[in-house]
Amino acid sequence: MTITPLMPVYPRCGVRPVRGEGAYLISEDGSRYLDFASGIAVNALGHGHPALVKAIAEQAAMLMHVSNLYGSPQGEHFAQRLIDISFADTVFFTNSGAEAVECAIKTARRYHYVNGAPERHKIITFANAFHGRTLGTISATNQPKMRDGFEPLLPGFEVLAFNDLAAVEKAVDEKTAGFMLEPIQGEGGILPATPEFLAGLRKLCDDHGLLLIFDEVQCGYGRTGRMWAYEHYGVTPDIMAVAKGIGGGFPLGACLVTEEAAKGMTFGTHGSTYGGNPLAMAAGEAVLSVMQEAGFLENVRAMGERLRAGLEQMIPNHDHLFESVRGTGLMLGLKVKAETRDFVAHLRDKHKLLTVAAADNVVRILPPLIIDESHVAECLEKLSAAARSYEAKA
Ligand code: PLP
Repeated sequence: MTITPLMPVYPRCGVRPVRGEGAYLISEDGSRYLDFASGIAVNALGHGHPALVKAIAEQAAMLMHVSNLYGSPQGEHFAQRLIDISFADTVFFTNSGAEAVECAIKTARRYHYVNGAPERHKIITFANAFHGRTLGTISATNQPKMRDGFEPLLPGFEVLAFNDLAAVEKAVDEKTAGFMLEPIQGEGGILPATPEFLAGLRKLCDDHGLLLIFDEVQCGYGRTGRMWAYEHYGVTPDIMAVAKGIGGGFPLGACLVTEEAAKGMTFGTHGSTYGGNPLAMAAGEAVLSVMQEAGFLENVRAMGERLRAGLEQMIPNHDHLFESVRGTGLMLGLKVKAETRDFVAHLRDKHKLLTVAAADNVVRILPPLIIDESHVAECLEKLSAAARSYEAKA
C-alpha cells in the first residue's frame, strides 16, 4: 500500500507543529516560527490564549454536546451577542466556513421559494472567489483546479468578473436570486471590492428584490480592524457567512441573516448535528469577549498600519522582488515578482516566518490579531533578510 494514512489531498510542507505560544508555532524538531499565517486567518487570539483555553476546558467538563433536539441557552446567548453587533436578526451555527456558505445559499433559495418565485435560484458570484470545498461551494466558483473531476456540479451559479458592476447589471434576469461575494477576496489575492461595486450590488438588490450575500469567512471577525469588513463600506448584506476567527481555532462558523431573508428557513429546512454545540459556543463567546475588550480592534488597526507602512518602505530596497502591498488591518498581501509558493517556502524554511500564498502572486500576511510592535518589527526584519537571501539565491 502506498497511500498515506492522511488522504493525500494536501501538499503539506515540512513544518510539523506540535505547540503554539501566542504568535509563535513550535515544530516537532523544536524550531520556532513567527506565525503570520494564523492557520489561514483563524487563530485570531494567537495560540494558547488563556481565556479561550479556560473557556473550552471548563465547558468540556460541564457539557460538550447535546444535539439540536434540545433547547440551547448557550446558542441563544451567543447568537444574541452576534445579532447585537451586526446587521442580522438570526443566526445558524455551523462547524466550518463552507457550511456557513451552504446555509447562505440555501437561505437565499428558500427565500424566493416561499415568496412564490422558485425560478429565482441563480446566484451571481465572482471570478477568483473562494467559498469552500463542498459541492455547493465549488459550484459557486470558476476555478477549474477545485472543480475538475467533480462534475456534475450544482447548477444555478453564474460567475462574473469581480468589481464589474455593468456586467452584473446586464446579467440580472428573472432567474436571479442574488449575489454572493467576499467584500475582500482572500484566496484570490487580498483583493477588495470597490465601494462603488458593493453599493451598486446593494442597490440592485433593493431595486429587484434580490439578496446580497457576503462571505466574510476570511475577511470578517476583526481581521480588517473592524468587526465586519462590510463596515468599511457602509453596505450591509442580507445574509453573511462567518467562520475562521469566530472560534479562534475551535471549528465554528455561522450564517447571519436578517429576519426578512430568513423567512424560508422554517422548522426542518436545515440542520447540523454538531452546529452550535455548547463547547463551540463557549469557544465563540470567549473569543468575542476578548475582541470586545477596550482597545482590541484599535490594536488591529494600529498594527495593520504599522506593518503596512513597514512593507511599503521595504519595497524600494527590494523592488526586483517586491511589487506592492494591499489589504486592510491585519489582512495584508505582498505582491511579489517571484513564484509565490517558492518565496513563501523560503520565508518559512530559511527565516522561520509563516505566511500563506494566494493567487495573483500575493503572499498573504495574516498574523494573530493580538500581535504587538515587537512582532511587527520581527516580521519586517525576517522579510527583509529573506528578500536579501532570496535575491542572492536567484
Ligand atoms: N469562504 C472563504 C472566503 C474562505 O476563505 C474559506 C476558507 O478559506 C471558506 C469560505 C471555506 O471555509 P472552510 O475551509 O472553513 O470550509
